[in-house]
Amino acid sequence: MLRRIAAIIVFVALVATVALLVHWNAQETSFRLTPDIAFTLPLGILMIAAAIAGAVVMFVLALMREGRHALRDWSVNRELRLAERNATQITEARSLILAGEYKRARSLLKKATQKRAMEISDVIDFAETYLLDHSAIQARKVLEEGQKDFGNEPLLLFALARACRATGDTPAALSALERAVSVYPTSMSMLTMLRDLLFETDSWTRAGEIQSRIVELNPDDASEQNWLLGARYEASNSADEAARGTALKELTNDAPEFLPVTIDRARMLTEAGDWRRAYKLLEKALRRRPRGAVLDSIESIVPPEESVRVARLYSKLVASHPDSSALRLRAAHYLMEHGRVEEAAGVLSAMSENGHGPRALALLGEIHDSRDDTALAHSSYQQALSAGQHWAQPYVCEVCAATEDVWQARCHTCGAWGMFESL
Ligand SMILES: [Zn+2]
Repeated sequence: MLRRIAAIIVFVALVATVALLVHWNAQETSFRLTPDIAFTLPLGILMIAAAIAGAVVMFVLALMREGRHALRDWSVNRELRLAERNATQITEARSLILAGEYKRARSLLKKATQKRAMEISDVIDFAETYLLDHSAIQARKVLEEGQKDFGNEPLLLFALARACRATGDTPAALSALERAVSVYPTSMSMLTMLRDLLFETDSWTRAGEIQSRIVELNPDDASEQNWLLGARYEASNSADEAARGTALKELTNDAPEFLPVTIDRARMLTEAGDWRRAYKLLEKALRRRPRGAVLDSIESIVPPEESVRVARLYSKLVASHPDSSALRLRAAHYLMEHGRVEEAAGVLSAMSENGHGPRALALLGEIHDSRDDTALAHSSYQQALSAGQHWAQPYVCEVCAATEDVWQARCHTCGAWGMFESL
């Protein structure tokens, strides 16, 4: 209310001032706008007209400035709205890819990228729809086209490697991955894929380099360390004889528990005529724990006339691992094979009834047979046959439980090295 009264007072004072100014300056004055146009008006009127004209000009200028600001705000808002809509479309397209609706995802992606330049992520999304739709060739085409715009961008190369791998073009996949890894040397997903491809193509030396980088990034992962040992072991296999010996020795020093190397070194020594050194090496490996593959190896390298050596070793092992039925069976089998019937009987007699599987019963049958006790032998063989057909004690992978009848350096199921055990 007070403000309104104040405004009325100011307005009245202003009108009075203007009226007074016009009244005091009533003399006629000529004002020339152009050489031909001139006005003749009282000076007071002219002054007020000039003031009004100035105010109008200021008002128009202010209006123009505000208009420009409004225009800019409008266009910024419009772009924001467009970007928001675009992001929603891309998110929806990715959801469709996840849901397996590749055609719909593609058409949505096309719509989203119609009014703006394609980005790397768009190219990768497009390729993904083809790759998952079992059109790896088409995916590869999209990515190679994208390379023309974005060059050797690592994410693009990674997607390209996957597409190439799906088309079966391993060399192209390897080349793309090597380029991607050179830019992102610590990317686990890229390193792992490169490692897997190198393993598949038996490129062991390079695989070892990549695997050692993976181990550096995951120092506590035992399976990655096993794979590094495996790659080094396989690389040594493809080296020449001298280099192979050195590489295997180095591996033994770094990982004395790694069985494939011990077995290979023992075989090499035996082939070179030094079975005694091979025996020592294998015996040392047994000190850590008895292992089926080492015992297989010992049995195969020790000449029959030296079987007493192995018999003694078995008796020592059985004494220190009295509860291992598998070890007793193995020992009894070896002793029987070398005509040590009574020793074999001794080893088996101490075995618990639970351990009397088909193999133990068959061995007992053999023992009774060699003692000319036909009735007992017959009964043991009968029991062995009824207990089942699993005569062989298979090797079991300690990582994935896959089984093999003969010891293998590498498990074909899970890829781990030196993990088969039969004891
Ligand atoms: Zn396995």
